Amino acid sequence: MLKTYEFWQIDERFLLVSPDRKLYTLTGMESLPESETGYLAYAYLDETMRIAFLGFADPEKDTYEYFESDDILVAAAAMLPSMLVRIVKPTSELNEHPFVKGVLEFHEADALRRSTLAIRSLDPLRDPVRPEILTACFIRDEKRKEKAYEEEVDIYREAVEAMQVSQDEKGGKKRDKEPEEGDDLPEPPAVTDDMINFVQIKDLMPSNNGTWRAVLLENLPGTRLKRKGDDVDISVETVTVDDAEHTVLFVNHTMPVEGTDISVQSYKPTRLPWRLAYELDCASCAFTETYYLGRHGEDSLMFKEILSDIRLGRIDPPILIDLVQRDDCEIDFSRELYRCRYCGTPEVMKRLRLITPDKTLSAIYNCLECGERMSLVKRGHIASLDCPDCRKPLNLVSEKQWSGVLETEATLE
Ligand SMILES: [Zn+2]
Ligand SMILES: [Zn+2]
Repeated sequence: MLKTYEFWQIDERFLLVSPDRKLYTLTGMESLPESETGYLAYAYLDETMRIAFLGFADPEKDTYEYFESDDILVAAAAMLPSMLVRIVKPTSELNEHPFVKGVLEFHEADALRRSTLAIRSLDPLRDPVRPEILTACFIRDEKRKEKAYEEEVDIYREAVEAMQVSQDEKGGKKRDKEPEEGDDLPEPPAVTDDMINFVQIKDLMPSNNGTWRAVLLENLPGTRLKRKGDDVDISVETVTVDDAEHTVLFVNHTMPVEGTDISVQSYKPTRLPWRLAYELDCASCAFTETYYLGRHGEDSLMFKEILSDIRLGRIDPPILIDLVQRDDCEIDFSRELYRCRYCGTPEVMKRLRLITPDKTLSAIYNCLECGERMSLVKRGHIASLDCPDCRKPLNLVSEKQWSGVLETEATLE
């Protein structure tokens, strides 16, 4: 078992696995070719965490080689012995492996259910082996529960007061003394278990009008309004206990379950035309590139491409959650230059932003070469970029307006 990592942190990551004799002895793994240096594996979530062995790897030389066979060996992460792994972030080259591509497409098709995996505060409520299963709280009758609790508090208060009186009568002890541990304290107030129930739910996902929904994995005690297998409305609440914040899910069995349609508009640009092509070259090596940046007016072609990405589930989970839950979302976009914080690779990205009256969420882009985060290069900084090949300063050869449709985008029509 990969004990040092929680399952969701290595989903869609590549692993460099140290060689381990124990691996060949596992059921189903007998055909794993022996290796002195180790393996390249891929971790992914398919109800449970799975590890696919894709090839040989040499962590010292930082090289890998795929197995020749098309049969991919997949093991349940829980079945594996403790083993040493190094996490490798996905690059476009690694993500092109046919097996990995298949997993990514399967995950994209499931983007709505998977979007809540990105909410860290829900982690403690998830089943450690099957993360799509969560524990939620069900209170059938909130008013009855409150009344019962108040009655319990009254009983407790009376008991404590009676105790203080009896202590006063005995003398010896000071008046107004708070009862301490060790004194025979009455039971603290508690609500009987039959009023608060914990039930298992799965497939928590955002739904319209700011709601959440999930599927019940068991019948609700004391009501037939909702049964095992039914969709149910869920509220996500944050409670503070001893200065620590906890997230609690509540099943609302009487509330209607909302749909998951998305309605979104293109953000109307208010800026002046800012479509510029930056031509850069390197004086020290052969690197030369022109970056076509900006957006012209509506740019319906690019917006269409973004809508298609959203439909295909190729969108950051926090943006997807807002798109479903709110009907006041607008999408702003513009071709902008990004640069990898780690390896310096430049790349033109869509700079997609979700804009609502109270906040803005920017899409996150990762480097296609090394998998690390990329940052936006401000227009004013483009002239002072370093060459991605030889690291010497680049020359800004020209900066001019451009029009028409880019070749790469024209194919989409
Ligand atoms: Zn990089
Ligand atoms: Zn150069």
